[in-house]
This record gives sequence, structure tokens and C-alpha cells, in this order.
Amino acid sequence: MIKTLNKFDLKNKRILIRVDFNVPLNHGRVTDDFRIRSALPTIDHCLNQGAGVVLMSHLGRPKGKVDKNLSLIPVGESLADLLEMPIKFSDDCVSEDARDTSLGISNGEVHLLENLRFYEEETANDLHFSMLLSKHGDVFINDAFGTAHRAHASNVGIVSHFKQKGMGLLMEKEYRFLKGSFDHPNRPVTLILGGAKIDTKLSLINRFLNKADTILIGGGMAFTFLKAKGKEVGNSLVDDGMIESARQIIQSSKESNVKVVLPLDFACAKNIDGKSEGVFSNRNIPSDMMGLDIGPKTISIFKQYIDQSNTILWNGPMGVFENEDFATGSKELAAKLAEVTEKGAITIVGGGDTAAAIRTFRFQNDVSHVSTGGGASLELLSGEFLPAFKALELT
Ligand code: AMP
Repeated sequence: MIKTLNKFDLKNKRILIRVDFNVPLNHGRVTDDFRIRSALPTIDHCLNQGAGVVLMSHLGRPKGKVDKNLSLIPVGESLADLLEMPIKFSDDCVSEDARDTSLGISNGEVHLLENLRFYEEETANDLHFSMLLSKHGDVFINDAFGTAHRAHASNVGIVSHFKQKGMGLLMEKEYRFLKGSFDHPNRPVTLILGGAKIDTKLSLINRFLNKADTILIGGGMAFTFLKAKGKEVGNSLVDDGMIESARQIIQSSKESNVKVVLPLDFACAKNIDGKSEGVFSNRNIPSDMMGLDIGPKTISIFKQYIDQSNTILWNGPMGVFENEDFATGSKELAAKLAEVTEKGAITIVGGGDTAAAIRTFRFQNDVSHVSTGGGASLELLSGEFLPAFKALELT
């Protein structure tokens, strides 16, 4: 069992929290603060309990070198705005100055450390580096779900340096929804799959062939499945290397009695940045057209399946949602998920692009859970035991 945040006596302690502040930046400003907001419940809890808080995170891939463009300073500014209080910032995560600042913080204060990945020792899970990091706190809390599938110094190596360690409220929530919901699921279970790539979702699909009652497939990946069934898909995205895997998935779904539902129609264009040229049935997509969103008949059928489900997982957009012309499928399904959530269904949105899509349509607060992890959420949903959880469990 991993100790959860509310089991700790935090009063008068310094809490070192590994957060995931790996957020998009544009010209030195945070353009999407979803991950920062998601860490607030844990930070607020520690402050309200009378603790001082030290936060550490990575940002981007500076590959072990200081890169001013990947400084956490803009993140610190966003965080201070959200917390409505000033915070302390150190321009190095393991310097003596930084450690002195952590030692000197009072209860109710927050100290943010500079990007962990300015040191290559972070991703190398270097023990000396994790020992230096551990000097920042009395209690270690991991709340960085987005990196839970990596064994790095700040989330795995560091654990052995602490007697008091556990997971934060975000980690707990991610674990409860992405793992707990599917251990003994409330049936019927529907998996909605989309996006461009199949290979990254293969283990998820294989696991859900034993978990789901229905798998709805949209997005670019639908064409590889349609091709595997012998359909002509025009100029649509097809992953030739995955046609055989798609065929096997269709075969396995029949053996395990899982209904795989493919789109009947698509909104199409001549190229991926083009304007919609109309809706075509999956039987007659013209050779110069590519399907870029699921069409109205498909949306209606997918909605019927969602209506009949008690647990729904959505991973991968239904179309090129970044282009307004091809956002309808994803938007309509997001609205449907919000509706069934209200009626009591458990609705979970996998991280990455799907999380971005649901936030674009502003339904993120109307579903049960939107994951902050991309790769981490895929691995946890695929049934893997992630290194960050393993480290907190075993030691
Ligand atoms: P993935 O990382 O595999 O989940 O893919 C997400 C990307 O798939 C998004 O950026 C979408 O624009 C893209 N996508 C969704 N549907 C299609 C489609 N029909 N054709 C090409 N790309 C698509």
C-alpha cells in the first residue's frame, strides 16, 4: 500500500513535492496551466495543514544542460498567480543556496526549484543527485503523474532517502480512476479510441479486449482497421505496418465477444489542412480525399453506445480537432460524455491530445476525470505497474 497525503501529520514540516509542471510555453508564458492547476489541491492541503512546501519539476527536454528557454520561472509566475501569494524561486535545484532556502522557509511558504533536467543525473536516476534533492524536505510526496512511467532521480531514486513518503492527491486520483475503475468495472464498459497512431495504443487495445464490452474506433486509426477489412479508404491515413495487427484485433474481439464498431461515414478534405469537401460513406471515399473526422451517422451510433454504458474511457480524438472543420466528432462525443456523467456514468479521458480536445470544448469539468499524463496514462490503463508507484510501494 502507498501512503496517501491525508495520512501524514504535516504540521511544521517541510514537504518536498515532485510535481509535473511540464507545461507548454510560448515566448516565456505558460499557454496551458492544466497541469499546474491539477497540482494545487496537494499544495493547498500541505499549506493548510501548517507545512512549508518545496516543489520540484522538469520542463521539456534540456538534455542535462541549462537552457534559459526551459526555465521554470514562467511556471513560478503562473503558480504565484493561482496561489495568490508570492513564492520563492531558486535558479538551481541542488545548489547550497537552494537547499538553504528550503531549510529557511516558514510554514505556509512555497519554494520552487529550477528545472530538474538541467542535470543529466535526473533522467539517469543518479543516487547522489537524488540524495542532494532529498535535502530539501522532511517528507517526500510524489504528485507528478505525467512522469510516473519513468524511473528518474526525483521520483524513484529519491524515495530511499526518506522515511516519510507517499503520493499526493493528484496521483491518488489518477490511480483511482485509471486503475481502480477497471479492476472491477461497472459494466457495460466502452472504450472510445481515436488519434493517428495505433502502435502506441496496442497494449491498451489488447487489455481492453478483456475488459470492454464495446470498442468504438474513430480518428485516423479507423482507416487502418477499415483497410484490414478490405475497404477502400481513398487518401486517408493508413498505417500499413499495422494492418495485420488490426486484423488480429478484429479476430480477437470476435473470440472475446467484444463489439468493435468502426465509422460508417467521414467528413473529408483533399489534404489535412484543407476545408471540408463534405461527408462520404465508408464505401465510397474518393481516391483523392482523406477522412478527417467521423461523420453524422457515426456520431449518432457512437452516442447510442455511450448512452448504454456505465464506464467509458476515451483515448484519442475522433478527427483532426485542431481544425474547426473536423472538430465536430470529438466535440459531440465530449458533450455526450458530459451528459452521461451527469446521469451517473464514470467517464475518463486519457491524457495528451484527448485531454487537450476536451479542454478546447470546455467539457473538462463535466467528466469524471481528465488525466494529466500522456504516456503514463496509457501505460497505467494498459495494466502496467509504473516505476513511480512501485518505488513508493516497495520501500
Ligand atoms: P495520437 O497521438 O495517436 O492520439 O493522435 C492524435 C492526433 O491524431 C491529433 O493531432 C489529430 O489531429 C490526429 N487525427 C485524428 N483523426 C485523424 C484523421 N482522420 N486523419 C489524420 N489525423 C488524425
